[in-house]
Order: sequence, then structure tokens, then C-alpha cells
Amino acid sequence: MNKLNTYPYLTNSRRLRYTKGSCKAIKETTIVLYRNAKESNIANLLFELKDGYMLRHPHGKLLYLSYQMFQPFDTLTNVVSTRLGGVSQPPYHALNLGLSVGDDQTNVIQNRTLFCDEVGIDLRTVTVGHLIQGTHIEVVSPTQRGRGAIDRESGLPGTDGLITNTPGISLLLLIADCAAISFFDPKRRVIGLGHGGWRGTVGGIAQKMVKEMNKAFDCHPVDIFVGVSPSIGPCCYEVREDVIHAFHEAFPDQASNFFIQQADGSVHLDMWTALKWQLLASGIQEDHIEFAGICTACHTDLFYSHRAEKGKTGRFGGLIMLHS
Ligand SMILES: [Zn+2]
Repeated sequence: MNKLNTYPYLTNSRRLRYTKGSCKAIKETTIVLYRNAKESNIANLLFELKDGYMLRHPHGKLLYLSYQMFQPFDTLTNVVSTRLGGVSQPPYHALNLGLSVGDDQTNVIQNRTLFCDEVGIDLRTVTVGHLIQGTHIEVVSPTQRGRGAIDRESGLPGTDGLITNTPGISLLLLIADCAAISFFDPKRRVIGLGHGGWRGTVGGIAQKMVKEMNKAFDCHPVDIFVGVSPSIGPCCYEVREDVIHAFHEAFPDQASNFFIQQADGSVHLDMWTALKWQLLASGIQEDHIEFAGICTACHTDLFYSHRAEKGKTGRFGGLIMLHS
């Protein structure tokens, strides 16, 4: 059977829009910009990506990114790490922040320290959720501050979403293809960080984050700003029928927009479109949403990709913190 007929709910218009490596066009530009930034010591270098903007913050060999949209809020730190500038050895090179991937623990703690020092936060404030591809969201209290910062055991178990209104708690999620989704309500002064893998997205993690922010702190969706980190893009995220079926079951009216049929008959998941739809359906304003638009699998020079590196790799992180 022609594979095109296997997935009747794929629309023609979505087919062939992306092909593997289609976002590699920006790769060389990115690297050149980084080299120039190091040489000329430019602290913040803006670069344009296909679907959005992120600010670049080179500090020696270390580089982290931040969302353009959050820049006006000086009460907020919201950054995404890259793999540049750490001490870990291959296949975890270099700034691996994950303690559960087989890397040397001392190196990981040193990487976390290096990263936090450059971002300007105290590692002891970092609170880590242990991701299980679920949708449990924890409202983080001051007594939970620092859990999982320097050891894996004390991290918050089974937690794919973190929310707090307490200044001085740094929320951290560790990823390698999934999205770290940052939420900020400047009116209620509430932050959140959600883990957007395919299972969490099927479970409605983005919508549940907005609901939980409303329930716990009376946040209104129209006030919330959202940043979506680099993650595996529609160019590279080949999936099988189980994933397509799960989305179709969860979102029967929308699933056709989340998949792209390739010329060879394979099907790619477009997580970015799926997450954007969830956010808009939650009442988030479109101009309050910023996608990094960077595919991790196309950019293993800058990020870790579980898929592209066949599971033997480290983790980069999305981090958000309110200042008092
Ligand atoms: Zn890609």
C-alpha cells in the first residue's frame, strides 16, 4: 500500500514543507556569528532565525541564549543553555547539565556551576523536575528551593511542569530534543516551565500549565508570555503510526495539522505547530509567544539531540527565575 494512504488525516498542504536538514542553512551563519562575538567580545548578539529571534550571550567559550520577548522584564531571568563551554568529555561534550545520562557527576556539577555563574544565579537556588513525559505540574514552594541542584536524588520526582511565584527559585528542566516551555505572567508575577515532548503534548502539557497558573495564582491567559526552546523540528522528527494515532485520538480536529508527509512516505511530527495550537487554544495571545525555531537534531554543534545522537548524549537546560 502506498504509505500516503496510511495516514488519511494528513493534509496535502502540510506535505513536503520541511525536509531533513532544511534548517541547516542557518548553521554556518550561526557559527560565524559566534566566532565574531568571541573575537569582538560583544555581549549580546542578535541573530535572526527562521521562526523567531533569540538573544545570544557568549561568555568566553560558554554560550547561552535568551528570549527576545522577555528582555523588557528586568525582574526575570529566562535562559536556555547550549552545549558550549563545559568540561564534559564526548559524547557529553561539553556543557552537559544532566546527571542521569552516564556522564561524570563531578563534571556535571562543574558545568552547572559554570552555567549558573555566567547567568548570574546561585546554583543552590536551582530546582529540578525529574521528567517522565507526563503532565504532573508542581507548584514549587520555598521549602523546595534547591532540590536536585547538586544531586539527582533530591529532584522533584515525576514532574514535567514547574510553577512558582516565589522570587529566588530557579526552575530548571533538562532536555535533548523536547522543548522547555517558559511561562511568565508579569501582572501576577508568576513563572512556569513545562516539558514538551510528544507524550506531554498529547497529554496537553501546555494547556495544563496555563490552567494550573490560573488555578494556583489567578493568572489570566491574556497576560501570560511564552517562550519555546530549541527542540527537534519538523525537519527531523520522524514518527511512526503510534504517535500519529495518539495525536489523532487526543486532538481529532487538529491532528492533521501536526504532521508532514515526506516524499519517501515517512511522516514527521511538527511539535512546534502542535504546541502553538495548544497555547492559542489556552487563550495565550499570538504576539505573546516566541519560538526559538531551532532544531536540535540539525544543530548538534550547539545543542544535545537524543534522536540525532542515538541516545548517547547530554542535556541542555531551560531555566527561569523571578527576582525580588
Ligand atoms: Zn532538523
